[in-house]
Amino acid sequence: MARGQSPEPQAAVFLPVGKTAMGIEAQDRATTALCAAAGACAGLVLTGWAIDAPALTGFGSPLTAQPLTAVAFLVLTAAMLFALAERKMLATLLAVVPALIGASALFQEIAGVALGTDTLLFADRVTRQALPEPGRPSTAVALGLLLLSGGAVAATRKGLRMGQTAAVLAITGFGAIAVAGAALPLAAELTDPAFRYVAAPLPAMICGVLLAIALLGWRGSVWEGLLAGLGLDRTLLQVVLPLLVVTPVAAEWIEERAKGAGLDPVVAGSVETGLNIAAMAALLLWVTSRAAREQRARRALTRALDSAPIALTDTSGLVIHWSKGCEQLYGWGQAEARGRRKYDLLASATGQDESAAWPSGSAGWEGELIERKRDGSTVNILERARLLEPRHGGDPVFVLSMTDITARTQAEAALRESEARLTLAMDTNDIGIIEWDAVAGRFTQSRGAGRSLGLAEGGISSLADWRARIDPADRAALFSRINNAIARQQPRIRFRHRFVRPDGSKRMLETSAACFYDAAGKLTRLICVYIDVTEKEEWESRLAQLQDEVMHVSRLSAMGEMASGLAHELNQPLTAVVNFLGTAKVLRATGDDSKLDDLLAAASQQALRAGQIIRRLRTFVSRGTVQEEWTSIGELIEDSIALALASRGRNDVDLRIETEDPDQLVCADRVQIQQVLVNLLRNAAEALDQMPPERREIVVTSAIDGDPERLLVSVQDNGPGLPKEMLDSLFTPFVSGKEGGMGVGLSICKRIVEAHGGTLRAENNQHGGATFRFTLQTRPGDDEV
Ligand code: ADP
Repeated sequence: MARGQSPEPQAAVFLPVGKTAMGIEAQDRATTALCAAAGACAGLVLTGWAIDAPALTGFGSPLTAQPLTAVAFLVLTAAMLFALAERKMLATLLAVVPALIGASALFQEIAGVALGTDTLLFADRVTRQALPEPGRPSTAVALGLLLLSGGAVAATRKGLRMGQTAAVLAITGFGAIAVAGAALPLAAELTDPAFRYVAAPLPAMICGVLLAIALLGWRGSVWEGLLAGLGLDRTLLQVVLPLLVVTPVAAEWIEERAKGAGLDPVVAGSVETGLNIAAMAALLLWVTSRAAREQRARRALTRALDSAPIALTDTSGLVIHWSKGCEQLYGWGQAEARGRRKYDLLASATGQDESAAWPSGSAGWEGELIERKRDGSTVNILERARLLEPRHGGDPVFVLSMTDITARTQAEAALRESEARLTLAMDTNDIGIIEWDAVAGRFTQSRGAGRSLGLAEGGISSLADWRARIDPADRAALFSRINNAIARQQPRIRFRHRFVRPDGSKRMLETSAACFYDAAGKLTRLICVYIDVTEKEEWESRLAQLQDEVMHVSRLSAMGEMASGLAHELNQPLTAVVNFLGTAKVLRATGDDSKLDDLLAAASQQALRAGQIIRRLRTFVSRGTVQEEWTSIGELIEDSIALALASRGRNDVDLRIETEDPDQLVCADRVQIQQVLVNLLRNAAEALDQMPPERREIVVTSAIDGDPERLLVSVQDNGPGLPKEMLDSLFTPFVSGKEGGMGVGLSICKRIVEAHGGTLRAENNQHGGATFRFTLQTRPGDDEV
């Protein structure tokens, strides 16, 4: 399996997730508001009775709501509010009260008996009414109360059947009360005994309608389920129901008025029928067009939802619904998948070659799976499951949404492989990565980093740990260098330091650090890549030693060649000393002391000159360590010329020195730069040997080269120039155009100049001869710690 091949397979983790709120709060709020309004109405009526205010008991209409009716609605409201708060027992007990009031009214009406309950409340005020049975709720209201109480009790019970019962009872209760209320305007006489059966006082009608709608809204899901089959929605019905009641009543009312106005009853009847037909036709047209529109929208939504890989299963994992998206993803059709266990159908497995177990009893999960498609290929899936517990009945279902993460998983595997390769490369080359999170103050070592340093994984976890491992001899300089670089917000810092291993041995590490700063310029992160260069450094120092020796040998050999010239040079001041002293002796013998001081001064001057020549020679052939110092370019050039051209006669070549500023200081190792100049001057002089003596010319120049920190020194001759075939290999060791030449001079020169941070170039002049140019720095070079 693909996941099995990855170096470190990750287990599919099933994360439990909490039950999701189904967005029912808004629905509950609306239901509560309707109940509260109904309760307030009932409360007003009771207050009206208590303070004997007929305006409150009938809400302005002549037909008043009876105290028992108001009590029944008040208690029913309380029952519904408790039911909403999931206090089912209390709600049921309370619902019995309105049911009993309704039932007793009906019983008395049908049986023609009087139980005396009608005048239980406010007896004297109730009996004042000109009603056949004062105090008794009318038959329609009693029926409505009975139905709504039953609906409220059913609504507290779980299950689809109960929900449907509640909805049917609510609609019927609504119908009974609404029709009775709407018939009110038609009543001829309040005292008409038949009136008792149909009349519903205005407050009772309002309470009943509000509670019925609350009940329908509350069991919304069930209600919608019932309507969905008809292609209708709840809002539609909430408009249609009252209209169905009101329209015929309105038509009837118009007919009555027409009759009253003296219109022929036949014509008035026709008008009523016409009105009814027109109203019903308009209603039908509106309902059907709206239903069709909603149906279309619902279908479009269903199609859109169906295109995503979503499946519904029961709690044991059997597929109930298999979307088009699932069909496309897995290749299994809806008919094939339905009724089968999803994990069996797709041979779902976790990352460790284990088949996935259905986490029954869980409220949801999220995890990665490897599943088999119909064609046998595997696919990596991120599965998210949520348990949907229908709030008012029905069996719970799992909604599973699947995301194809094959590409991501493959990319992750590739990344892991590349990381493994990197780790191997780092291990092999003793490279390590350390990251310092300056904000959290945390050190993280790359995997395997530090193994060669004898450090355990995570061995360095803080700045203090790291500091402690740096050789005390390097510590202060290293930290000051890093701090300086950070203060200047340098993006990159390179440094070398010795690292003390836990066993006490030391390793030389070369580190390159990338620095990251925030907008305020504060360091946030430092990523250091270090490489163990202990062996390399040992080799380098051995090589440098060898190079020093080669340079020394080269100087000695040059010295050998220059010896005769230098001896001649030395001879001159020594002869002069002897001559001056001899003359002084003669004069002294003759008793003439007048010129003695001058002669002695001249002799000592010559002796100093001889001493200077010897000093130059000694310095040149010395084997001292490389030492950069401030030295003036004029002096360097002078000394080099004295050494290089000493063996030649004074007038052998025409030498010109053109220094822009002889006192210009350069920071360099004197002996080495002298060696460069001596080499270049001797090469030039040797090349000039081929020229007639009167045309031999060497020009030495020095000038600042654009950058004030760079000095350009050139040695130019007008000899035959560099042989064309040698131009590319001039600085390659052992390439020589002279018979018996070693061919190492220029390669040594180049190395010396580059070690000083400069460059050495050679070219032929336009009008003959060659020019060598090299640069020197007029400031100290970057020394690494
Ligand atoms: P070597 O002098 O021992 O041959 P170098 O490395 O100093 O070694 O010089 C390499 C070669 O470069 C010389 O042999 C010579 O042919 C050529 N060369 C160097 N300087 C000059 C110059 N100024 N003019 C002409 N040829 C030169």
